[in-house]
Amino acid sequence: MPTWPRNRSTRSASSWPPQPKRRSSTSADAESYRAQLAYVLERSAFYREKLGSSPSDRLDDIAELPLTEKGELRATVTPENPFGAHLCADRSELVRIYSTSGTTGAPSYIPLTAGDVENWVTGSSRSYAASGVQPGERIVSTYNAGPFVAGAALAAFERIGLVHIPVGTGNSELLIRAIEMLEPEAVVLTPSYAAHLAESHDLRNSSVQRVLVAGEPGGGEPAFRAQLEEGWGAKVTEAMGVGDIGPSLFGECEQQDGMHLGAHGFVHLELIDPESGDARPLEDGAEGELVLTHLQHRAAPLIRFRTRDHVTVKTSPCPCSRPGPRIRCVGRTDDMLIVRGVNVFPSAIREVVSEFAPRVSGHILVQPKSSGVKQEPPLPVTVELGRDSEPGSSLADEIGTRLREVLVVRASVELVPFGTLRRSEYKSKLVES
Ligand SMILES: [Zn+2]
Repeated sequence: MPTWPRNRSTRSASSWPPQPKRRSSTSADAESYRAQLAYVLERSAFYREKLGSSPSDRLDDIAELPLTEKGELRATVTPENPFGAHLCADRSELVRIYSTSGTTGAPSYIPLTAGDVENWVTGSSRSYAASGVQPGERIVSTYNAGPFVAGAALAAFERIGLVHIPVGTGNSELLIRAIEMLEPEAVVLTPSYAAHLAESHDLRNSSVQRVLVAGEPGGGEPAFRAQLEEGWGAKVTEAMGVGDIGPSLFGECEQQDGMHLGAHGFVHLELIDPESGDARPLEDGAEGELVLTHLQHRAAPLIRFRTRDHVTVKTSPCPCSRPGPRIRCVGRTDDMLIVRGVNVFPSAIREVVSEFAPRVSGHILVQPKSSGVKQEPPLPVTVELGRDSEPGSSLADEIGTRLREVLVVRASVELVPFGTLRRSEYKSKLVES
């Protein structure tokens, strides 16, 4: 029987991934932006109307331009133009059309030219390669190559030189079998699914050394990450994409200290105050909504697109020497609650609760008392106990106190037995009204 070598290196590891050239944010991006803006003004009815005929084309002035909202794009969809009025490319130039899942309203279409696909794969492969996976290693993926843009990230694994083993979404039996039989060094999945698998299987001694998580916020938060690393006996790094802009735009390196922009050169990032829309400086410790602009996109480029993702920023130099700021996503605007004036993200509540593992399982459910974003305290939070945990009389109080200390929110904590809350093979629903 043939043996399967553990490290079948087909490419020199030292030459991969190609390290980004060090640039100040900079001339290359500024030039790309100028060309992108000219292209968009020439071809997109949407942006001609929105930006006027002669906006400044200096990247330094980008904050003077209006923001682009998803809803505005959606409103321009017609039977004649199912993509929206921001479509720039001729239909003969399109090679692929994805859909976004559309949490509100109908799904929208994301068209791509061959060059767009190529840039997506390049950006994604940089983001995933940052995790430390090496050419010749095996990776099991759990994304479906279905209608959604995450499917475009699959080509990144082959680009890196990995042996890609797709098992698709929601097939735990196939996934566990693949880990046992094919001994992959890495897996890629949502943090919720990673948590669910670690809880239902003993994976600590499996071949998996790296768990790449993406698709929802939280995988990079220290306490939740520590739980995943303990369960998998592996290093956990996160990656993140934005449906309308590109898959896996960002990826963490082995320092696990925020995600680098793998799509550098293709995407420009900004931060805004989510309430006022005003630009915020990209400085160390800054927090705000992520706004992204395509720099080299052809089919339907977006200028100053509001992602609805709230991020924190780090600008200190990373020992890996990748340039540029690093981000961590703290939550989606759509998931945010405002409890007596304080913004609260459910993933942040989960992070605080996870500090109490193994007394808690890490599964939580926030059940707001009223509909809408604004809530009166105390915020009801159901917390699941750990597998072998006896509910000590003070645990609920301790968690409540800690939530108040860290998030400045008063919660009423209800403890429930292990296994009560629903597990997810995809993304977790942390709020239920
Ligand atoms: Zn780094």
